[in-house]
Amino acid sequence: MNKIPLFDLKRQHQLLKVQILKSWGKILDVSSFTNGEETKEFEQKYAKICDTKYALGVHSGTDSLIIALKAANLKSGDEVITTPCTFTATSDAIIHVGAKPVFADVQPNTGNIDPKEITKKITPKTKAILLVHLYGVPCDMNEIMYIAKKNRILVIEDASHGHGSLYNNKRVGSFGLAGCFSLYPSKTLGALGNAGIIISNNKKFIRMARMYADHGVESVETKYDHLVSGFNKLIDNIQSATLLHKLPNLELIIKRKLEIAERYNEAFQKNGKSGMIWPKNTVPSIYVYSYQTKNRKKDTELFEKLGISTGIYYPTPLHLQPSMDFLNYKKGDFPSAERFFNQTLSLPIFAELTNEEVEKIVNAISKIR
Ligand SMILES: *Cc1c(COP(=O)(O)O)cnc(C)c1O
Repeated sequence: MNKIPLFDLKRQHQLLKVQILKSWGKILDVSSFTNGEETKEFEQKYAKICDTKYALGVHSGTDSLIIALKAANLKSGDEVITTPCTFTATSDAIIHVGAKPVFADVQPNTGNIDPKEITKKITPKTKAILLVHLYGVPCDMNEIMYIAKKNRILVIEDASHGHGSLYNNKRVGSFGLAGCFSLYPSKTLGALGNAGIIISNNKKFIRMARMYADHGVESVETKYDHLVSGFNKLIDNIQSATLLHKLPNLELIIKRKLEIAERYNEAFQKNGKSGMIWPKNTVPSIYVYSYQTKNRKKDTELFEKLGISTGIYYPTPLHLQPSMDFLNYKKGDFPSAERFFNQTLSLPIFAELTNEEVEKIVNAISKIR
């Protein structure tokens, strides 16, 4: 009996192999690797999906954050309020531009940053909120945008978990100054290697972001005029071409993952338990299906015995990571975040899961005691 994996990219890639290889062949014929037609088309199409004016393809999700923070003019002495419940790249990006991450505790049901906790952390040095839509479940954007406006601070969204997630019918990533997305292979929209994208409605911001991503250069015609000290972080045409083949399937993938998540939720409910939680005014594009359990070890063993893989996203909240020692946080500082990550457990979810596999997982959920 084959164990059901958490993710299996091979299933998706088998179906796209011929068309992807064909477009790579075209790139080899032209042999131009950045700033190409494929990249322009991908940026335009992604911006259109998100209903923003602009998009900029970059080398990774981590780079999308660093470039966005640079282009927003964040620097040494600035404070950025962020969540401890995320992947390390979120707060690392803040550190890489010389600013200081200031963590705020999360909502106990979603693990998303709690607007009330944001308010408590605002100081005269606060320049931005860098929020994360954890697992693809949108943050409380009405509250957060209100707080940001009132206090004149920027909002930047790390939407790496939520390609296409909707909050009040509006795409996540399109609320603040910028939305940053990882296009790492395992993400809901993934390249075949590293890639990321930044979306925005602000022309000045996107112009700065493009410069920071391309050695401070404004356009190909003036490629030896360096207006700021930039990086070499543009997306590769090869990845853009690949992503163009995946983009048409994004809506279907989101729909299928949501359908599977609802099936799991139903099974949890029947078993008198609660599955994954998202607010009523949202339609999440689910990255991973995670639920809260007080018996994580026992549940993991049960799924293991029944041939089902599980995962933990993520084992440690960021304020307790050795890399953040210099910020002097300690255990107990963010009780909701600590509890949330101690109790989180993820089940397999990807669009190519068969109905049989889904029912096998549903059956296992009914056996949780
Ligand atoms: C994956 C991820 C990133 C980093 O993206 P890379 O493409 O791996 O650099 C950043 N933030 C979050 C929340 C992520 O999940």
